[in-house]
Amino acid sequence: MKQSVCRFLFGLLFALSAQAAEPPEMSEVEKERIRMIVKEAIREYAASLNDKQQQSSGAKEILREISQSNRAFMSKNGPAHFSHFADSQHPRATVVTCSDSRVHSHALDSTPDGDLFMVRNIGNQIATAEGSVEYGVHHLHTPLLLIVGHVACGAIKAASGDYSKESPNIQRELDTIQIPKGDSGLASVKLNINNQVRLAMGKFEQEVINGKLTVVGAVYDFNNEMRQGPGKLHIVNVNGETNPVKITKLDLMQGLDAPAAKTALRRAPTARKAAPAKAEEETDPPEKPADKPVKHKEGH
Ligand SMILES: [Zn+2]
Repeated sequence: MKQSVCRFLFGLLFALSAQAAEPPEMSEVEKERIRMIVKEAIREYAASLNDKQQQSSGAKEILREISQSNRAFMSKNGPAHFSHFADSQHPRATVVTCSDSRVHSHALDSTPDGDLFMVRNIGNQIATAEGSVEYGVHHLHTPLLLIVGHVACGAIKAASGDYSKESPNIQRELDTIQIPKGDSGLASVKLNINNQVRLAMGKFEQEVINGKLTVVGAVYDFNNEMRQGPGKLHIVNVNGETNPVKITKLDLMQGLDAPAAKTALRRAPTARKAAPAKAEEETDPPEKPADKPVKHKEGH
């Protein structure tokens, strides 16, 4: 550590002395070189920080728990689980969701490994992840592009307000969420989903017309805002159709609430895992009387 601190100080002194002696005609290249020296010295210093600081931030404990969970995951699944997709992937769906920590693939798929090509960003957007979405549709040829927004979305809340004090990078990602100012609720969540579906329809028009791709927009309701049970995935848009009555009548929607064998929906005829029988049942949560929506802290 001492050596790193010395190098940091040396680098800093060198940079400062170089700047002090900076001739008026110092080139941009030279200035950039000095900036890089300072950055490198700071990076080395940061890397030399001791364990005590890491422990105080809680990262060590969190990493330990993640490692434990990973070991449990390995022992639960065993080598056979991974052998089915070790060499290639044949996901069933490209899924664009918000990065929000309350939205995860296990809400959509009891065994998501190898099944869902996940693209995540704030506000479940196409525009900020076009390459990833194109990869799922054009290279992995998933027949379904599922765009999942969610209730109490922090990105929607931010985009509906004044975010001019956010960093340029965050601003750039919020700029592409086109919703009215002042409305951070479910209507804006749905509007954003519909906007994303429209964008996707424009991008993948040919695939949709040819019947190779279906674009579906959905709201993941983890706080029972839509009164059909917490955790329900509500389909609100199918290839641009947003009328709930018409969506319900679509062939695509028939039998969704019935238990279905997941293996029947597999794309690749070989090299697919067999899900445990119990996990194959995909039923809706029982309908509940109108529970009062629980207030959750909002996030992205
Ligand atoms: Zn969100």
